[in-house]
Amino acid sequence: ATPTALMVGTGRGAQLGILIKGPEVLESTRRVDTVVLDKTGTVTTGRMELRDVVTAPGTEARELLRLAGALEHASEHPIARAVAEGAAARTGALPSPEGFENVAGLGVRGVVDGHTVLVGREKLLADAGTGLPADLAAAKAAAEAEGRTAVVVAWDGAARGVLTVADAVKDTSARAVAELRRLGLTPILLTGDNRAVADSVAREVGIDEVIAEVLPQDKAAVVRRLQGEGRTVAMVGDGVNDAAALATADLGLAMGTGTDAAIEASDLTLVRGDLLVAADAIRLSRRTLATIK
Ligand code: ADP
Ligand code: MG
Repeated sequence: ATPTALMVGTGRGAQLGILIKGPEVLESTRRVDTVVLDKTGTVTTGRMELRDVVTAPGTEARELLRLAGALEHASEHPIARAVAEGAAARTGALPSPEGFENVAGLGVRGVVDGHTVLVGREKLLADAGTGLPADLAAAKAAAEAEGRTAVVVAWDGAARGVLTVADAVKDTSARAVAELRRLGLTPILLTGDNRAVADSVAREVGIDEVIAEVLPQDKAAVVRRLQGEGRTVAMVGDGVNDAAALATADLGLAMGTGTDAAIEASDLTLVRGDLLVAADAIRLSRRTLATIK
């Protein structure tokens, strides 16, 4: 009787838009008490848009957009796409970078029009010994207080400006968080983004626990730390940077709209990329297990 009940569970899962790697996955859902949610692309749409352009004295907005846009054009990160598209829309065709390097969780580095350009978090600049002048730091803080992500741009060893991007919280995310709580799970927001942006998204969807400014390679360690506290952890994510954490979690759920790396590392795939279906998935697995007993 057991295998049949599991088959019914997986068949029903497919109808709901949940792809289950194997029937044995259902077993891990029973003890899950904590659900870690990636922010960008999981709780939010990940479709970011370029908003403000703030320049340092002596820097032209056009030049800032040209150099930052050219470099970001080579990256597939949602922030990079927003910067590249916004820059192209405002300035026209972008030059091709002469060199390009992705710095995971921090930004991008490369050479455009002979300038060595950095685009990303303040830490990316700090690691290169480049500080942020007070006016740019103030613009960055103001944007973050509003829940926007500030992207800092530097070239040839000096900070030149701040670009702000914002994406929207998915309209089902708040309901999904409430639903996960009803299932007895504690939601935690996990992101590489800064604390102010993370807190603002968490408030909007009703999450109290926020772990921000986590580098991609450290996301799995956060999951392990939670497991070390005796929690059984489900992780929901979409990005390449979530793959290790999805594999480490007791139950990994990937957004079907996310990257192949995330889908391959996970136990369940939520086809439509809707967080509400994560709650459905956990409820369905528990019900299927109840049927077996
Ligand atoms: P999340 O964990 O929310 O999915 P990531 O780990 O992908 O976010 O990125 C963490 C942070 O690093 C971003 O919020 C952004 O500040 C910065 N960042 C990463 N890649 C880029 C990029 N290509 N351009 C600008 N900023 C970037
Ligand atoms: Mg993400």
